[in-house]
Amino acid sequence: MIRINENFLKLQSSYLFSEIAKRVTAYQAAHPEQEIIKLGIGDVTRALPPACIRALHAAVDEMGADSTFRGYGPEQGYPFLRDKIARFDFQARGADIQPDEIFVSDGAKCDIGNIQELFATDVRTAIPDPVYPVYVDTNVMAGRSGRFEADRYGAIVYLESTADNGFIPALPEAPVDLIYLCFPNNPTGATITRSQLAEWVAYARENRALILFDAAYEAFIRDEALPHSIYEVQGARQVAIEFRSYSKTAGFTGTRCAYTVVPRDCIAYDREGHAHSLHALWNRRHTTKFNGVSYPVQRAAEAVYTVEGQCEIRSLIDAYLQNAALIRQEMDALGYRSVGGENAPYIWVAGQTDSWAFFDLLLKKAGVVCTPGAGFGRCGQGYIRISAFNSFDNVQKAMRRIRAALTE
Ligand code: PLP
Repeated sequence: MIRINENFLKLQSSYLFSEIAKRVTAYQAAHPEQEIIKLGIGDVTRALPPACIRALHAAVDEMGADSTFRGYGPEQGYPFLRDKIARFDFQARGADIQPDEIFVSDGAKCDIGNIQELFATDVRTAIPDPVYPVYVDTNVMAGRSGRFEADRYGAIVYLESTADNGFIPALPEAPVDLIYLCFPNNPTGATITRSQLAEWVAYARENRALILFDAAYEAFIRDEALPHSIYEVQGARQVAIEFRSYSKTAGFTGTRCAYTVVPRDCIAYDREGHAHSLHALWNRRHTTKFNGVSYPVQRAAEAVYTVEGQCEIRSLIDAYLQNAALIRQEMDALGYRSVGGENAPYIWVAGQTDSWAFFDLLLKKAGVVCTPGAGFGRCGQGYIRISAFNSFDNVQKAMRRIRAALTE
């Protein structure tokens, strides 16, 4: 008898975005004249940078001639891209990362899910609350979560991010082995300082734990003092894996390219306490189960590091940050406490009421869709997430409507 992985039965239905869609559809059916502005989902809206498009076209042409055609490439990514990543994204910021420590992939989401194959099912896992839901759900699938009771999984240690701790969770009281951190954060938009990050690295070193550091929104950092990578912290190489993505950095959500950094000296242990190289394990897993990202897409990602590419992604992100600044300024002016939006595309607003009630109010009175914070975890209750991914015109219009709705 073929049997299922019963851990899947413990998953909670992905209620958040389906419930949003249901409420928006119902409202739209009742008010067909109302134009809805979506500031909910975290997908980008602006076109790929011209430098990437030129590189894509050129690479597609290469694939059309026998003399320049490429078949299977290296699973870990082409050297032309791995070299640039190491140089521009890490060495330029004083982080000692080498090209052979970069694993190019088709998405940070896949890598974040897949990396867990390297770890035992009974490691103690610490996950932030509120959180990007992929961290929780992939641990549930892997059998690491325990039962779901009273809105939480029994075996997960929740790292609470609240206004009281400035949305930077405190170190766990009980020892944990696997730690998820995400900065700039989705959904809160909060950032972490170098010294706060250093505390986590010290914790991981002392407890022989591992940090999975999600830096998918790194490109939004404008404050020079903030770290872009966990490897800017001394001692992180042994205890951290970092995830990066071109999705938000360069508008690649539909094009697909990302990478994971696994330093050569990053280690985990067997049951006897012997150390093993996670680089070797991940290399084995990646080469066995992944065929690499397509050549044209890697050429497009490489173009991000040209002079024009750097300029173009900067203005792409500046445009979203301009939206974010306006949203933050307007919500502050209306008397709502908020965080994020300065070095991140998300603004996390304390709604002065239940998350879904605030969501409904903005939908029905302003025709604006946000994301109820409660959908990201218990600590998100009372908050909404507003995303800056839209045109400036739409954001201006949305904020005018929100102001009218909240001051009437
Ligand atoms: N990590 C975080 C925190 C995200 O918000 C997202 C996408 O929204 C991802 C990772 C996924 O990135 P990718 O598009 O590379 O899979």
